[in-house]
Amino acid sequence: MENTGSVFSELNLGHTKIKNRILMGSMHTGLEEAKGGFEKLGKFYELRAKGGVGMIVTGGIAPNFRGRLHPMGHQLSFPWQIKKHKKLTTRVQKAGAKICLQILHGGRYSYHPFNVSASSTKSPITPFKASALTKLGIKKTVWDYANCASLAQKAGYDGIEIMGSEGYFLNQFIAPRTNLRNDDYGGSFENRIKIVTEILKATRKKVGANFIIIFRLSMLDLVDNGSTFDEVVQLAKILEKESVDLINTGIGWHEARVPTIATMVPRNTFTWISQRIKKEVNIPVITTNRINDLNQADQIIKEKHADMISMARPFLADPEIVNKFQNDKADEVNTCIACNQACLDHIFKGKIASCLVNPKACHELDFVPNSKGFKQIAVIGAGPAGISFAIEAQRLGHKVSIYEKSSEIGGQFHLAKKIPGKEEFEETIRYFKKQIELLGINLHLNTTIDLEFIQKQEFDHYIFSTGVVPRIPSIEGIDHPKCISYQDLINKKPVIGKKVAIIGAGGIGFDIAEYLAHNPEHQPTSLDKKAFFKEWGIDCDYKQRGALTNKEPVESFREIYLLQRKKTKHGKTLGKTTGWIHRQSLKDKKIKMLAGVEYNKVSDQGLHLTIDEKEIILDVDHIVICAGQNSENKLYLEASKLYPHSTSLIGGAHTATEIDAKRAINQGVRLAYDL
Ligand code: NAP
Ligand code: SF4
Repeated sequence: MENTGSVFSELNLGHTKIKNRILMGSMHTGLEEAKGGFEKLGKFYELRAKGGVGMIVTGGIAPNFRGRLHPMGHQLSFPWQIKKHKKLTTRVQKAGAKICLQILHGGRYSYHPFNVSASSTKSPITPFKASALTKLGIKKTVWDYANCASLAQKAGYDGIEIMGSEGYFLNQFIAPRTNLRNDDYGGSFENRIKIVTEILKATRKKVGANFIIIFRLSMLDLVDNGSTFDEVVQLAKILEKESVDLINTGIGWHEARVPTIATMVPRNTFTWISQRIKKEVNIPVITTNRINDLNQADQIIKEKHADMISMARPFLADPEIVNKFQNDKADEVNTCIACNQACLDHIFKGKIASCLVNPKACHELDFVPNSKGFKQIAVIGAGPAGISFAIEAQRLGHKVSIYEKSSEIGGQFHLAKKIPGKEEFEETIRYFKKQIELLGINLHLNTTIDLEFIQKQEFDHYIFSTGVVPRIPSIEGIDHPKCISYQDLINKKPVIGKKVAIIGAGGIGFDIAEYLAHNPEHQPTSLDKKAFFKEWGIDCDYKQRGALTNKEPVESFREIYLLQRKKTKHGKTLGKTTGWIHRQSLKDKKIKMLAGVEYNKVSDQGLHLTIDEKEIILDVDHIVICAGQNSENKLYLEASKLYPHSTSLIGGAHTATEIDAKRAINQGVRLAYDL
């Protein structure tokens, strides 16, 4: 099908038209199973539909019990369930968008002992070994898919997406890695994809010709013994023949040890493979992964590299993303920074998804402003907590003034954005600045506030978001010129020697190790796709099954020791879905991770340690201190004694332990509604 327009142009599927080429990709939110969750999900989807998206694909819904992702996971198999789903379809369609239900069978990724797969295998990321599905079981499963699609149609969905990628059930049949069968559903390629064609035939027969069927095709498995390029092409052609309307791009199995969506993955890294598949078929191809900028998406469409763009997390960050880009307001978008901290990390911990930069996501109905009247408010400290409060409070009608002692806003985000692989944090600072300007918030930079200012009582309420100061551990010689705090390292950029020790291996210690390992004369791999492919062994020539090749890790620019007193594995407190990437990246760079250390002293010789009762000296040039933070709350403590009812403390100034931006922003936004 020829496409001529921009990302905002209509996509004609023959039997129906989608108003633009932007798809909100499938995202499990946890609301699917929560009590009253469909009400909340309806509001969540409705806001995105009003925000201009062309079509939404729901989170994965199982076609039968054994395919549920966890025992309480949602399944659509019975007519009585239709009513619930109508809550979603009517709201989305009334707001002008289309909505498809994703049918997702977990296969061996299902987190329960009743899981089934092509063969009896266990995935490396789940504890339960799957049973091999019998031939009768296959027949029943084919029927279950068609039944689920038919119920979706009755619930008013415009179509379905069949999940055939990311290493789930159908992918487990398609790839020889997990399909070890020797009957007519295993062995040859034709046999391995037989279940796919049977499902498509049965489904089309049930739903008729005028119902959208999307197939999420694994174009790059990124695991050993995955599909070959020829097999992916052959399957794409079969999908076309079986009257699939759209092919969506799937990248990487969940067990793949290659990052595919995290923030260190360069933007728009995988469109090349969608483009290659698009050349082989005449039905529209959707591209995906690390696309968060619709100007770049527009380019992809105009250059005919794909027919539609799928974005998922960017819709959590900003429900209005489409309308903003379409109305030339790209600088007003609250951009997804691909951190995974409140979306995927929540889901993997069994919590409701949300968004670090937009805590209202999936919790829209919780945010009801109270009506105690408008106030004049002073915010002291312009880090993420203070600014998030200020923006939200001004939006709600309060009159806010921000006071910041430094020359710029953003607090800890200014440090984060300088870490290789975390460049996206700059987008949030840009968003904050633009909102301050648009809302007309009074911003006073280079202004230090003291108690006298507060005693003048010119404001009704004072918000203290004064942040944190690095903790300096009491180690003999810690004031030696070799020692430097992580803040001074990044802000003052002193010349740092080739051999460095880092005290503290929390999130900041890991970040500083990346920062010091990076050669400043090179682009970070997060900004250089070719280097990223080499670093993680992605074979764009697709010579082997799964498109993997030998990794060529980036060499560390320095010899680095990352130290902690705990005896546990390094990086245990890092994000659930990104921690492994940080650990692997430092391991590949041969950063030396020492656990169970006791710090004795710092001298001209270096850092004196005891490990396993042995004393050693690391003859390092510099020692960077990343030993956590203390709250900067002195002014608040003084002021709150005088004015306990008109002072509030938020962000790192409130709790420094394990403070992160997610908690800080959430606290700021919620306080604006509560005040
Ligand atoms: P953190 O995670 O609390 O880590 C502080 C480190 O310092 C720990 O490894 C601790 O390990 C060590 N330490 C604490 N007190 C010490 C002392 N008195 N002497 C020597 N070592 C001491 O804090 P952070 O690294 O500053 O990170 C702050 C927050 O930001 C965290 O919540 C973190 O999750 C978040 N963050 C996350 C990421 C990420 O996920 N990539 C990146 C940046 C920040 P031992 O006690 O074992 O030595
Ligand atoms: Fe994006 Fe992070 Fe929000 Fe997830 S939590 S949607 S990755 S900004």
